[in-house]
Amino acid sequence: MAIESINPATGKLIRTFDPLTPEATREKIALAAQAFRDYQRVPLDHRALCMRKLASILEHETDDLATLITLEMGKPLHAARQEVLKCAAGCRYYADNAARILASESIPTEDHTYVRWDPLGVILAVMPWNFPFWQVFRFLAPALMAGNVGLLKHASNVPQCALSIEALVRRAGFPRGTFQTLLIEARQVESVLSDERIAAVTLTGSEPAGRAIAAQAGWLIKKSVLELGGSDPFIVMPSADLDAAVETAVKARCVNSGQSCIAAKRFLVHEEIYPAFESRFVAGMEAMKVGDPTKDTTDIGPLATPRILEELEAQVKAATASGARILTGGERMMGDGNYFEPTVITNIPRTSTVYREELFGPVAMLFRVQSLDEAIAIANDTPFGLAASAWSRDPAEQQRLVSELQCGAVFLNAMVASDPRLPFGGIKHSGYGRELSAAGMREFLNAKTVLISAPRSNEAR
Ligand code: NAP
Repeated sequence: MAIESINPATGKLIRTFDPLTPEATREKIALAAQAFRDYQRVPLDHRALCMRKLASILEHETDDLATLITLEMGKPLHAARQEVLKCAAGCRYYADNAARILASESIPTEDHTYVRWDPLGVILAVMPWNFPFWQVFRFLAPALMAGNVGLLKHASNVPQCALSIEALVRRAGFPRGTFQTLLIEARQVESVLSDERIAAVTLTGSEPAGRAIAAQAGWLIKKSVLELGGSDPFIVMPSADLDAAVETAVKARCVNSGQSCIAAKRFLVHEEIYPAFESRFVAGMEAMKVGDPTKDTTDIGPLATPRILEELEAQVKAATASGARILTGGERMMGDGNYFEPTVITNIPRTSTVYREELFGPVAMLFRVQSLDEAIAIANDTPFGLAASAWSRDPAEQQRLVSELQCGAVFLNAMVASDPRLPFGGIKHSGYGRELSAAGMREFLNAKTVLISAPRSNEAR
């Protein structure tokens, strides 16, 4: 089946690509394996030089690259620009910090002992469309700085982004074969991962895709990292700054038109402030401008594919069928493009399927809670464990939130966001392993123990 690039704002086909044949795929794997043999010996300074060049290209060509992102997956153009600049910042972070992260660690023993960090080899990255540049760059910047090489299987709806990233890496001066895009379908991933020249795999995407990759990687005994879905809670307690909480709640639900793993999806609000929060939050969602993603005034663009729109619509219908109440929105919008109204639903029964699902679009689930205990209990009552945003100015409450929320990150009085300096990842069905920071870089490194025997007297032996 052809891989299609379709504009989600209009439904128009932009370009089609034939997926790679098995033979062409094997050639790319061979090139990657060959590239690794030489690239692992390229001095760190030279890798950093290329990485900084890559950052400069991203900074100089931000508008063109952002336009491509918007065209292919519908993100508002101003957000696409921010995404490209964030990739540049990620490249600079790893160019500046790789030497520190990769430095051998001396361990005091009676011999000369230390741990060195060696690259693993060819890493397969299976990536989603929602941040078509940032998801890839947060893999490629640490991987290439560490001396690994990358093969990218990007989501099928963003082939032009995938090809453009490969071209950018080459233009930055990285040797041929160090980063290649495989235009393949999901069903072809299995044979790539089975190839013995692939050392490890990272997948960012849905739970079913994660299960498939994890099962295969486990069978093959290959290292895997999974960044999967989330249904992040956003808790608001009476001591919170309500103005800031409401404003951030709207932003946190609508970021990337609602299609972000770390978008806040469940809003748990204490009953003392619930009426004020509800009316202002609903008004905030209604004020979001939905429409043409190329306009600077647009807050929410189209969803990336018709399938995502259909799934979201079905989830909202299932919620109302199970007794939930819609406070605003709830419908797809007329006309071309995959547009859905900003929506708030409440009274969601615990037995409703949607209670335990991720909503990947501008739909918020609102809950009234009577206590911090109840907020934490509902927040943790989910298969997911990616992140949480919690709003309270009470130090005792803050302490409980930080320690009792079951997830990979807790942001207090702030919106959850990724940052190259901070580890990123989840627990439970949100996956395992970490991206970004030193922790992310070390996922695909071999912590090799070295011991050089110290001369000893016979007695000491
Ligand atoms: P998806 O369907 O799982 O696709 C993600 C990638 O996996 C695509 O490249 C896809 O290829 C591939 N894929 C799908 N099924 C596969 C299989 N059985 N074997 C191998 N590869 C497979 O996910 P999505 O709907 O595009 O992305 C949205 C999901 O990603 C959401 O759940 C979101 O929360 C999650 N996400 C998580 C993070 C995080 O860091 N935790 C960040 C962003 C997004 P095709 O496109 O060809 O199907």
